[in-house]
Amino acid sequence: MYFVDVILPLPLENKYTYRVPSDLEKAVSTGCRVIVHFGKKRFYTGIVTAVYERPPKTDYEIKEIYVLMDATPILRRPQLRFWEWIANYYLCKLGDVYKAALPAGLKIESETTVVKNREYTEEITLKPNELSVLHAFTTEKEKLRVSELEKRTGLRNIVPVIASLMNKGLVEVNEELKRGYVPKTETYLRLADEYKEENVLHAAFEQLKRAKKQEQLLIGFLELSHALNPALERDISKKELLEKCGQSTAILEGLLKRGILVPYEKEVSRLQRQVCRLQSPNPLSEAQQEACQKIREVFREKDICLLHGVTSSGKTEIYIHLIRQVLDSGRQVLYMLPEIAITTQITERLAKFFGDKLLVYHSKFTDNERVEVWNRLLHANGPMLILGVRSSIFLPFSDLGLVIVDEEHEYTYKQQEPAPRYNARNAAMVLAGMHGGKTLLGSATPSIDSYFNALTGKFGLVELKTRFGTHQSPVVIPVDTKELKRKKQMKHPFLSPILLQKMQQALEHGEQIILFQNRRGFAPMLECKQCGWVPRCVNCDVSMTYHKYHQHLVCHYCGYTLRVPTTCPSCGSEDLQMLGFGTEKVEEEIAGAFPEAKVERMDLDTARTRTAYERIIGDFDKGKTQILIGTQMISKGLDFGNVSVVGILNADGLMNYPDFRAHERAFQLMIQVSGRTGRRDKPGTVILQTSQPEHPLIQMVVNNAYREMVDWQLAERQLFHYPPYFRLIVLVLRGKNESVVQDLSRTYADKLRDKLGERVLGPVTPPVSFIKTLHIRKIVMKVEIAASIQGMRRVLDEVYQEMQQFPTFRQLIIHYDVDPL
Ligand code: ADP
Ligand code: ZN
Ligand code: ZN
Repeated sequence: MYFVDVILPLPLENKYTYRVPSDLEKAVSTGCRVIVHFGKKRFYTGIVTAVYERPPKTDYEIKEIYVLMDATPILRRPQLRFWEWIANYYLCKLGDVYKAALPAGLKIESETTVVKNREYTEEITLKPNELSVLHAFTTEKEKLRVSELEKRTGLRNIVPVIASLMNKGLVEVNEELKRGYVPKTETYLRLADEYKEENVLHAAFEQLKRAKKQEQLLIGFLELSHALNPALERDISKKELLEKCGQSTAILEGLLKRGILVPYEKEVSRLQRQVCRLQSPNPLSEAQQEACQKIREVFREKDICLLHGVTSSGKTEIYIHLIRQVLDSGRQVLYMLPEIAITTQITERLAKFFGDKLLVYHSKFTDNERVEVWNRLLHANGPMLILGVRSSIFLPFSDLGLVIVDEEHEYTYKQQEPAPRYNARNAAMVLAGMHGGKTLLGSATPSIDSYFNALTGKFGLVELKTRFGTHQSPVVIPVDTKELKRKKQMKHPFLSPILLQKMQQALEHGEQIILFQNRRGFAPMLECKQCGWVPRCVNCDVSMTYHKYHQHLVCHYCGYTLRVPTTCPSCGSEDLQMLGFGTEKVEEEIAGAFPEAKVERMDLDTARTRTAYERIIGDFDKGKTQILIGTQMISKGLDFGNVSVVGILNADGLMNYPDFRAHERAFQLMIQVSGRTGRRDKPGTVILQTSQPEHPLIQMVVNNAYREMVDWQLAERQLFHYPPYFRLIVLVLRGKNESVVQDLSRTYADKLRDKLGERVLGPVTPPVSFIKTLHIRKIVMKVEIAASIQGMRRVLDEVYQEMQQFPTFRQLIIHYDVDPL
């Protein structure tokens, strides 16, 4: 008898054991999906992690596998080991990793369907609700999902009604499995068999004499499909035929009605890309050539190399050369980007060189597309380039030769919610290592963590200090907004005269402008001038942001929305004023100041969908838009040729918040935004508005003094035991009842302190300590870098077990955040 261990997509520590039915013994193997029962009447798709013969000891009854989904594994060998590494390092459950790793289309949900059993006859009396459920079934639809029945009947609480019908024997309920992934089909056309006879076809053309367009379309079809020549015959889609012959669907309908052409559905790939002639990579400049060579040298000795190249130095061009070399050697490449926003531009750039060897994977793709990428990698062994965001590290690679992490400093590489809270940059290095491949980290503003690793020799370091060609570094001009306000020279509330003047000049020369403001919405705050009332979210401890377009107040933490009040709910005054400014307000002011220019805004509100941001970026790229206003979304990696002015509207907002990384991050953001200008032959100007022009960080941005910033920050971090000198593990406790959360986190921290001593700080109350109706406390642990994660885990598990003695402990939601960003 055979048994399997299975991981379930649930936050569970353990693997669960199931028995293999004898007919499946031969077929089941590690990495296959199985459907199993878990808990009461629930189905899950599990992944087999081990197959063995000896019956295991368990404290639960071993059930049988219900369905084996795959004849061959859908995971490749190192994947499970990689999942285990993530669960171990980031102190989460294997089930959480599984949930994040597999695209939803490969996971099956159990959905209850209801089947009508027999006709209703008069001898049973039914209630009106029961009758309406029965009437929802039709002859075509004898099987309906519970959700469909709810929709059709309009009944709210339908489950008891179904139960009662079941008792009366009129319906049956069964758990039916729904396939997540739906193959895409397209309509294709073929010539009806009888028309392959010459005389029949002849007669058909006779008939078509008076329908000239149909005649032409038929001729077009015969030419394109070679339907009369079996040796050359090929499938032709409706879309291709109509496009190539320039005819409408109505004309085609004619041929279909006559039965000359017959439509059929054919499964097609969603990943098709229009590939024109492939280009060879651009020749590298001397400096680029040298950097490229140095990277190759580093890889002879080390597995990881940091490429520190100023913005527009041509890092992407270097990547392209390295990628080609790895693909030529027959291995795979993973190219990671921090955000979907830039994938469009990079995809276009890479497709020119790599054609259909390029696969793109990110969360804005439909689930079906994601499954297709997964399957392509699973079944193809050839060299392939995958361009993807965070989650692409979970794809079934067979032989990764190189991982490139572009913009490696970006904090979006860290998953925040839900578990696994992994850092994709760091995980990617481990993944590459498992394949015996190399990792290249690239950035104009490397994270202090990576730079430190390069300084200490753990990583190799290659620097590229000049921009490509004649591209000049931007000139950064700090502007003192406090002084201007005092002198009453700020006519617009947040546009300095010099910024307005530079913008005017740029527009006159047909150049483009980017304005950066890291807050969306219209005004961050509304305030009653009389009594000081400020609208606050009911679910979170924050004030709500005013969004003018929808006339709403929105909580940016939970999405809670309110209509804007016309009078103060506290004192009745109508004197409500707005404080601060977000991108929406900037857009309005700019439209007023430059009525001729076309202005566009890119933030979470305008660029929610893939098509939306592709359009915004596309329009700006083509010059249809002159001024682009945006949040940090516009700061990363975008390459526009014609931007001559960048405005950073409020640097203060970036620098002043309580986090040990605030200065590092503000520096990175400002340098990156500045880097969007001067990317071709024209020099660029950056206007940096701040009320603290004497702040050391502002000076460092003006001088692009990266190294100075690093040394300054490293000294502070060493002093206060922060990364990269210590590893942070944060224990987050959340709960509805504030005093329970507070008391238990105190006890918890004390217990941890008993074992870990001074390394444990807190509990601390975070700046926003109430989010989505839950109170939050954090316990921060500063652990020596050399300390073993396994040892830490043991201690943490022990204390967690001890905490179970408190009955209220179960009210808390607890998780770890390892290396928080
Ligand atoms: P980075 O990634 O360092 O910001 P990019 O690779 O985007 O820089 O290069 C900036 C611009 O310069 C791009 O438009 C790119 O096409 C161009 N460029 C850089 N290197 C070369 C090269 N060797 N040949 C042609 N164009 C280049
Ligand atoms: Zn008031
Ligand atoms: Zn909220």
